[in-house]
This record gives sequence, C-alpha cells and structure tokens, in this order.
Amino acid sequence: MVATGVKVAIRCRPMSKREEQLGSKTCLTILPDKAQVQIFDLKNEKDDPKLFTFDHAYGSESVQPQVYKDLGSPLLERALDGINGTIFAYGQTGSGKTWTMMGIETDPGLIPQLNVDLFKRVGEMKHTETSSSENNSTTVEFMLTASYIEIYNEVIMDLLNPGGKKLDIRESSEKGVYVQGVCEVVCSTADDIMKLVKQGGAVRRVAATQMNQESSRSHSCFTIKMEKRTLEKTEEKTKTTMLTSKINLVDLAGSERASKTGATGSTLKEGAAINKSLMALGSVINALGEIAKGKSIHVPYRDSKLTRLLQESLGGNSSTLMIAALSPADYNHNETVGTLNYARRVK
Ligand code: ADP
Ligand code: MG
Repeated sequence: MVATGVKVAIRCRPMSKREEQLGSKTCLTILPDKAQVQIFDLKNEKDDPKLFTFDHAYGSESVQPQVYKDLGSPLLERALDGINGTIFAYGQTGSGKTWTMMGIETDPGLIPQLNVDLFKRVGEMKHTETSSSENNSTTVEFMLTASYIEIYNEVIMDLLNPGGKKLDIRESSEKGVYVQGVCEVVCSTADDIMKLVKQGGAVRRVAATQMNQESSRSHSCFTIKMEKRTLEKTEEKTKTTMLTSKINLVDLAGSERASKTGATGSTLKEGAAINKSLMALGSVINALGEIAKGKSIHVPYRDSKLTRLLQESLGGNSSTLMIAALSPADYNHNETVGTLNYARRVK
C-alpha cells in the first residue's frame, strides 16, 4: 500500500433534515483518532457492529479546512515536486462527494482550496527559487493549465467545450496517454481556475438536464497540469530543466446499485456502464496494492475509460487518494456497507 501511495479516507456527513424527519437513526460511529468506523445493523441488533480501519476517518463535525490540510495539501506539495496525484470521491448519491470536492462558496471544498493554495505556493517558489548574481541567474517559471471532462456511459465529453464532439483517448510515445483534442486552458490566477470550475460545473448540469441525464450518473474529472521550468544562466550557457505533473480531482458517479433506483431499460445500461468504471477502478487500485506487496499481476487499466485516462496518474510514482463519502442514516445501511467494503478493497 505504501509503495503505490494509495490512501483511503472516509467522511460521514451530518444527518440531513429529510433523514431526521423520516426518523432515521445513525448507524455509524466514527473514531477519527483511530481512523476507524463502526457500522451497526439496527435491524439485527444482536449482530455485532463491523469495524473498518482506514488512513483517515472524518465524522459529521469535520470541517473543510481540516480535510484540505490533511488530504489536499500533501498531494499539492508532491505535485509541485513532480509527482502526479489523484483524489477520487466515491459514494452513493447524496453522501457528500460534491460537498467534499467542491463545497459551496462560503465553505469551499478541496478543489477551490487547492486552487488558492497552488497559486500561493507557485508565487512563493518563484520568489525563493529565482535569484541572480552578477553573471549567474536562476529563473523559475510555471505554466498551469486546466481541463475538465465528464465521462457518461463510457463517453468522454469536454465540459470546457460545450457542444463539442465526444473525445477519444489516445496514446503516443511522446505524449503518453491523453485525451485527443481536449481543451487545456492556461491559468495565471486562482480566479482563472475557479471560473473554469464554475463554467464546467454549469455545463455539466445543463447537459444533464437537456439530455435527461442525471449528473449523479457521470464521473467528472478536473485536471490541473503543472509545468515548472527552471532556467539557470551562467556566463557560458543556459540550462533548462522541466518538471511536469498533474493533479486529477475526480467526482465519481453515484455508487448506488441500479436496482435501488428502480432503473430499467436504457437507464439500467447506464447503471451497468457506471458500475463498469467503478468496478474497473476498484480492480486497478486493488491490483496496484498487490503489486506494492511484491506480487506481479496484470493491472486492468483498459477495462474502462476512467482507468485508462488516469493510467499514468495511478500507480508507479504517484499519490492516489480515495475519499469514501457516507450517509449516517440507517436507511442507507446496505449502501454504506457496500461503500465501506469497496473502500476496504482498494486499500
Ligand atoms: P453527492 O455529491 O455525493 O451526491 P452532495 O455532496 O451533493 O452529495 O451532498 C448531499 C447533501 O448533503 C448536500 O445538500 C450537501 O450540502 C450536504 N452535505 C454533504 N456533506 C456535508 C457535510 N460534511 N457537511 C454539511 N453538509 C453536507
Ligand atoms: Mg454530487
């Protein structure tokens, strides 16, 4: 687990008004200090609670800045050192994935906090690493670009190019695995990035409504690419070094099973495709864990668009974090057990 850098956090949201009105009881106990969660089956009270241990566990009182400090900030620091990073939010619809990734204007989640921190850190690095003396100088330059895509039913759409054609994944020795023709927008301030985040989010909602889709059935992936160029000038020559890395922030489709939502026909196919991606993701992360333990097994990156797309950011020299979002309500007990088992499997 350590070698691949796959970490798993769980975050339980507060009971919602609706759940309270329905008389729902909480079936979870979160033990943040031990990074553990206990789940009780209130229908079978003689059953012992089940205990799960992760890398981090956040209860309903957890706050956005703490989650960023623990999970977002270290990933950013590694990315600034050239190590790719990915954060996935996993869980059933309504469990708090978007809250954790995006949050709201007055209580920003991981993405907005990371954007602000990124430009702060870049500013500091430019300042401290840029120096000059009489004949020598070192200049540090950053180029930051953002892209924002959605995967719905194994089709990739560009949220920064609404109305554009569906996108394909390609691979070349030069570029590695990439999305052909995806918009990559150069950003020079945190506001630039936030505009794209908002713009893409709005496109996602409009597209979902127009095509009678639910955005909870799609995966969204916001990617920040960083290129750090260091120019060292001496009297004789100029040496340029490049360091590139990516951060992917992925709000996964709801993990609930098609059966619970009562889906039939084409919606069922959608459900199956979503589960295909989520299954593939679980298998890939699981395989990476086995490799880290010294086994040599096949990593099924090609089993879904999502895993193929993120191939170069998963495993190897990269940091991967899964945040499993949970509802505390006993009404969701079975889904929550499913989420905990999925999260345990990837660890
Ligand atoms: P998902 O993206 O998993 O479908 P959301 O993030 O939209 O779920 O969360 C569902 C609801 O619960 C939203 O109204 C959101 O504001 C609220 N919520 C989720 N997590 C928290 C939290 N940690 N604190 C307060 N409210 C939360
Ligand atoms: Mg959501």
